[in-house]
Amino acid sequence: MICLRCGGCCHNLDIFVVNPDRIREDGSIDPHDPDSMIMKPSGKKCPHLFFQAGPDGSGVETAVCSIHHLPCYQGSPCQQFEQMGPEDDVCMMSDYFRKLDDRKRSRLTLF
Ligand code: SF4
Ligand code: SF4
Repeated sequence: MICLRCGGCCHNLDIFVVNPDRIREDGSIDPHDPDSMIMKPSGKKCPHLFFQAGPDGSGVETAVCSIHHLPCYQGSPCQQFEQMGPEDDVCMMSDYFRKLDDRKRSRLTLF
């Protein structure tokens, strides 16, 4: 699956993520610490997610995971998460999440 770096899954999924307050200096977490992982509910932005301008200068921002390179990310639910669809095709969920957000926004405008 080719990730478009939209950040949709890091915002819209219920998922356990690494607790930012429990990351040790070497980038790891204590696997025996029950507070090393926290629940990130659907609709809430992950504390590790940020956006930055793409290298092409178009002004389009891409999602970045601030812990992707750290040892604590290894073995996490995010690292093990596999999207549906062919390996060499773009992520199908990106479009779905975008439409979901559009619908939520139009509902807010209506009421
Ligand atoms: S929804 Fe798909 S394209 Fe968007 S960040 Fe997640 S994996 Fe990548
Ligand atoms: S930890 Fe990284 S990959 Fe997982 S939800 Fe947060 S930003 Fe996304």
